[in-house]
Amino acid sequence: MLQWLLLLLVDITLPTNFLYFNFSYMSLCIIQLEDLLFSLSIITERVRKYQCKIMDAEEFRKHGKEMIDFIADHVEGIQQQPIVPNVKPGFLITKLPSRAPTEPESIEKITNDVEQLIIPGMTNWQHPNFHAYFPAGNSYPSILGELMESALGCIGFSWAAAPSCTELEIVVMDWLGKAIGLPEDFLHCSGKGGGVLQGSASESVLVSMLAARHRAFKTHRLSSSTRLVAYCSTLAHSCVEKAASLCNVRLRQLEPDADFGLSGETLRQAIEKDIHDNLIPFFVCATLGTTSICSFDNLPSISDALSSLKGTSETPLNIWLHVDSAYAGNAFICPEFQHLLLDGIEEVDSLEFNANKWLLTNFDCGCMWVRDRLHLEDCLSVDPLYLKHDHQHLTADFRNWGIPLSRRFRSLKLWFVIRRFGLTGLQKHIREQVRLAKKFTKLLQKDTRFEQIGKTRMGLVSFKLKGENELSERLLGVINNSGQLFMVPAKVKQNYVIRFCVCSTSTTNSDIEQAWNVISYHADHVLADEIIEMTLWPGELSPADLATNSFLFPCKDNSRGDEHESVPDLIRSRSTVGQPFRRPFRRYSTSELSHRLLSRSLSSAACLQSLTPTSNTPHKTSQLRLDTILNSLKKERPF
Ligand SMILES: *Cc1c(COP(=O)(O)O)cnc(C)c1O
Repeated sequence: MLQWLLLLLVDITLPTNFLYFNFSYMSLCIIQLEDLLFSLSIITERVRKYQCKIMDAEEFRKHGKEMIDFIADHVEGIQQQPIVPNVKPGFLITKLPSRAPTEPESIEKITNDVEQLIIPGMTNWQHPNFHAYFPAGNSYPSILGELMESALGCIGFSWAAAPSCTELEIVVMDWLGKAIGLPEDFLHCSGKGGGVLQGSASESVLVSMLAARHRAFKTHRLSSSTRLVAYCSTLAHSCVEKAASLCNVRLRQLEPDADFGLSGETLRQAIEKDIHDNLIPFFVCATLGTTSICSFDNLPSISDALSSLKGTSETPLNIWLHVDSAYAGNAFICPEFQHLLLDGIEEVDSLEFNANKWLLTNFDCGCMWVRDRLHLEDCLSVDPLYLKHDHQHLTADFRNWGIPLSRRFRSLKLWFVIRRFGLTGLQKHIREQVRLAKKFTKLLQKDTRFEQIGKTRMGLVSFKLKGENELSERLLGVINNSGQLFMVPAKVKQNYVIRFCVCSTSTTNSDIEQAWNVISYHADHVLADEIIEMTLWPGELSPADLATNSFLFPCKDNSRGDEHESVPDLIRSRSTVGQPFRRPFRRYSTSELSHRLLSRSLSSAACLQSLTPTSNTPHKTSQLRLDTILNSLKKERPF
């Protein structure tokens, strides 16, 4: 009987040959049955473990070290990668299996796919010629901090759930708060307010608007938000609009002044009008460093306006002022920039910046401070029994300062970064990127074809070609298509602007010069294309213009796809259509144009043709003039 039982047991767990071996051994030594059972259970346990084993510490050590090498190689070699990948939607989906693997795969296989499939589809934000959006902060200390964070693997929703996670966040937020010169109220050590790490600036804006709405509900004894109004400038980030829509309140997007900043006066007028119309102003978002052009709302005058709009004791008006400085706020760690925040801080209830934008810390790391934590806790507290703990009244439970319950140990990477760089290292980084942006601005200002929109206050420069928006739009398209730089546009007061942001920590002086050469080179093309347009409709040119100028134009690089049409044909076909001549006349002498065309390829030079303007008809290529240009083109190209 026992034998049968054993047979059954072994049968389940072991291969048959093993079974017979053990079985015969056992029948000889019945007395040792118990020992045998014990050793069998060890064997079966080992078999089970072997089957389930995915990765043990030994393998982790090996691959972990390899991965660190891989990461360092990738970071150091980023310049060899394209800035923007040459892929179309679906490129990855079609290459990967449509179902998850049923069997375990090796780390080698997975990392190989990272190399072969994932990295080729990356837009490389850390590339020195990436100038789009705002920086995606990163640095080795930050990567190490994040590695440690994932290893500790805690969920820090309350002090008790992760005491170190909560307390390090308190310490680091007070460090940073002091470093940017915040008044004591905003610090944990004051016992009144404090800082908290959110997942994004959008979350900080939403959280502060929710708290403001909650306070307004109480102050005005409201049961619905229909009378509540929030305010920002038309240049505020779209996350303010999103927050207003989530809070179900009206949002007034006010016109900024000539300096692209919202003024206290504009705000006051809007608020007074709304009060007159029986609405309740409750929230203002002032932006310090707009996303389009890094302009600053006029915080001192906004603060003045709000302090004079306090209402009466029967109808108090308590408008929450939030400062969104997601990008530029990082610069406040430099004393020379702090006045931008501190002049006017008196009325500020909350503020935020993203250390993951400009403070060498990787996403996500949204630093937010409030003057009075009770407003957040009033609005966002949840306290079921399973989250309660004995020290609730002695410390912060950050679940009550934001939307999610579960929270990452974000302060760890920020702590690594602040300690490894020191405040002086961080200041140096900010100053260096501002310096590079100012260098770019100088190059821009020397070229009269361009105009800057706004000022260079941080690492962002916004500019356009003089003339119609379409020119700048075309210019940006050509530049981005070339793969030499990557920038994105913005719309500012009807202007289509190209944003040039210093993003990567590896961008150098020569990258900036190179970037300017690329922009200038493509501007030559776009403007030369423009000459074709002008020459096509010479009817509105004065005879004097036509008599004194030569016009050269490339037909090959024409972005409208006319490359196979000869210029005379082109002119003939267009003149029969008879479109009106719309563009301002731009005069180029032959020598100026050939100078501008210096850096073009020889093939496009072969397409250069000349027009004898006096007769208003195209002539055959002037061989002499073309030779001159070809010769100049043979000189070394600037890049
Ligand atoms: C980037 C940015 C935001 C949005 O930040 P998220 O963290 O992505 O939500 C908001 N406001 C300004 C001014 C920004 O520059």
